[in-house]
Order: sequence, then structure tokens, then C-alpha cells
Amino acid sequence: MKAGVLALQGDFKEHLDIFRELGVDAIEVRLPSQLDGVSHLVIPGGESTAISMLLESSGLDKSIRQYISEGRPIFGTCAGMILLSKEILGGRADQIAFGAIDITVQRNGFGRQVESFETRLEVKGIAEPIDVAFIRAPVVVRMGDQVEDLASVDYVFKEGGSRRVPVVCAQGSTLVSSFHPEVTGESSLHRLFVERF
Ligand code: GLN
Repeated sequence: MKAGVLALQGDFKEHLDIFRELGVDAIEVRLPSQLDGVSHLVIPGGESTAISMLLESSGLDKSIRQYISEGRPIFGTCAGMILLSKEILGGRADQIAFGAIDITVQRNGFGRQVESFETRLEVKGIAEPIDVAFIRAPVVVRMGDQVEDLASVDYVFKEGGSRRVPVVCAQGSTLVSSFHPEVTGESSLHRLFVERF
């Protein structure tokens, strides 16, 4: 097993720390050739539009498309979730949506930086609730039939009222979360990823 963390922009270092804490060999991925031998790839949080441009200039966009088409495990957190989704609302028209999971996301749907929050969350497949951070997080506004909802939160509308929205979703070998587990040093989702995907 070898984890790779896309290290073009965003908080990739925290993900590397978590894999190392779990005893999983982990490397930074900046070049297409670095994907060889990676068994589990993470696309971290950051700025999806910036990561998207850097993916194109490095040629990693094509390699990751290939990686996904081979059915190899991939985990996207926050901006990573946006990049792995099928459709992006409120994004740049030219930003990458790999379509590794059949969801539509609304960028910054959980609000601006000042509206960031931390919460304790129950996740299917993880025994204890986990503490996670939502930072300008995307909201899943549509989920395809093949997508599994592993955790959800109450989303409160500014106009009043609320509804449950999924914040951890899985389909085949793709796992995504709206939040950052790595900001709070939470390792259970990474463990789930390497053990079940
Ligand atoms: N809102 C950011 C984006 O669109 C994602 C924020 C994050 O990864 N914390 O890329």
C-alpha cells in the first residue's frame, strides 16, 4: 500500500502526516510519474479553481483521469470533493470536474470563511463520532442512485428552515467529504479509506 497526496496547492502536508501516523507509506504527488505505484490517492482541500489550473499545467489532469478510469481508490476533501464531482455550481466554467462520483456540488455552499465551523459527526463504518472542520465547504445538492451517503448534517437556510445534506459520500472506489478531517488531526476517515477502498 502506498498513499499519494496531490501536492499542487492546499493543505496536503496534514494529509501526509495522518497517513504516516497510521503507518501508511505516503508521498507528495506533483508530477504524473509520481502516480505510478500509488494505491490510494488524496486530493486535498484548498482552492479548487487553482488546483484545477495547476492540474492542467502539470499534465496531472490526464494522469488522474486515467487513474480514475482504472478504478483505483481516490479520496477528495473539500476542494478535492469539488474536483471529483460530476457537476459544479458556482465554479469557473473551465474548472475540472473529474466525474469520479455522481454528485452535483454548490461551491462555498456552507458559506464564507467567517462562517467556517467545526462539528462532531457520526460516519457509517466508523465506530466513534469524529471532529471535523467545514471551511468554505461545498454542499452536495444532488446525489445519483449509485452514490452512498455515509454522513450528513443539518443545513440551515438563511431564509429559515433546514434540511439534511450528505457530507461524506462514496461510489465505487471514490470517497469524498465536504469537510476537512485533517485540520482537526482526525485519522479515522483516512483509515476507512485505506482499509475499505
Ligand atoms: N471553496 C473552496 C473551493 O471552491 C474549497 C474550500 C476548501 O477546500 N476548504 O475550492
